[in-house]
Amino acid sequence: MWLKEGTRRARQVRRRSDANCGAPLKPRCSADKRRHDRLVIRAGDFVVHCVISAAAGYCSVTSKPTRRELIYLSLFQRRLKEMKQLIEIQFVFLALFLGAINTASGDAPILFSPHLTSYVDKVTEQTRRKLVVERRSLPLGLKAAFIPDPRFIKIVLDPSINLKTNYAEYSIAHEVTHGLLTYAKGYAQLIAKRPLTAKEQTRRSIAAVLVEDIVVNRILQTEGFAPFAPIYLATVQYETKVANAKGTYPHPDLANDEEGRDRWMVLRYIIAWGLVEYCSLDQKSEDVIAEYLRAFQNAYPKQFSMAEQVKSIIKENDIFEAQGYRKAMASILDLWKLNDFLQMAD
Ligand SMILES: [Zn+2]
Repeated sequence: MWLKEGTRRARQVRRRSDANCGAPLKPRCSADKRRHDRLVIRAGDFVVHCVISAAAGYCSVTSKPTRRELIYLSLFQRRLKEMKQLIEIQFVFLALFLGAINTASGDAPILFSPHLTSYVDKVTEQTRRKLVVERRSLPLGLKAAFIPDPRFIKIVLDPSINLKTNYAEYSIAHEVTHGLLTYAKGYAQLIAKRPLTAKEQTRRSIAAVLVEDIVVNRILQTEGFAPFAPIYLATVQYETKVANAKGTYPHPDLANDEEGRDRWMVLRYIIAWGLVEYCSLDQKSEDVIAEYLRAFQNAYPKQFSMAEQVKSIIKENDIFEAQGYRKAMASILDLWKLNDFLQMAD
C-alpha cells in the first residue's frame, strides 16, 4: 500500500517537475526534491528533477532510468543545447546589428522588420557604410531626413515618430535610399560654396530632394515598399481641400518667405506628379493624387507655371541614372539661381 501510494505521488512529482523544466525556479522546487528523493527510493521509480533555475541550465537524474527514458532525456538535453546555441548566436547578431545602427543615437534599440532589415543590409553592402540613426527635431516640419556624412549613412528621425509604426519603416527605407543614391549610385550632392543663411539652407533642402525624391520613390516601389508614406494620401487630400478653397498654402515655417513657400509648393506638386508619372499606383491613390494636381493647377497658377518648368527639365533627362540626374540638377540650379551659393559635388 505504501509502495503504491509512493509510486502515485512520485508520478505526480515527476509530472510537476517536468512541467517546470525551462521555467524559472520556484521556491517549492527544493522541497519537492527532498520529497520525491524519498519516494523514488521506496518506489524504485525514476524522476528527472529540474534544476534549470539553479543557473545550471540542465536536468539531473536522481534514480535508475529505463532505456526509453534515457533516450527521451538525451533528446531533451540535445534540444536544450541547440536552443542555447541558437539564442547565443541570435543575441550576438542582435548586439552587433543594434550597435551598428545606434552608435550615434543613444536611443532605444530599433527593431526593423525582416523586409527592412534585408533592404538595409543590401544598401550597407553596396555603399560599404553602416547606418546610423539619430533622433532629433528637423527644420521645415520634416519628420525624417538623410544627412550627408563622411563615414556613415546617417538619417535623422523626429522624436515624435513611433518606431513601431509603418511610418517609421517607410521613413527609414526612404532616407536609406538617399544614402544608396549618394554613396553607391554616384548621385551628386548639393554642397554649399560658403556658409549659408537660414533662407539659403531652406533653398538647398528643397532643391536637394526636388528631383531625387522621384528616384527614391520609384526605387522603394521596386524594392517592395510603398512609394509614399502611410500618411501621404491623407495629407494630399487635405492640401486638395485647401487648394479648392483657394486657401494659403499650409506651411507655417515659411510664412514670411514667399519665394521659399512657392518652391515648397512646387516640391509638393513635383513629388505628386512624379508618383503618377514614374510609379505604378493603385486606382484610389492615382485618383487622389490626380485630383490634387488639378486643384493645384486651378488654385495656384504662378506656382503651377514654376512646376511646369521643373517638369520639362525632368522629362528631358534620364533622372534614374546619375549623369541624367546631374544634368537635370544643373538646369534646376540655373533656373532657381542657386549657383551663387550651391554647387554639385564631383
Ligand atoms: Zn526624400
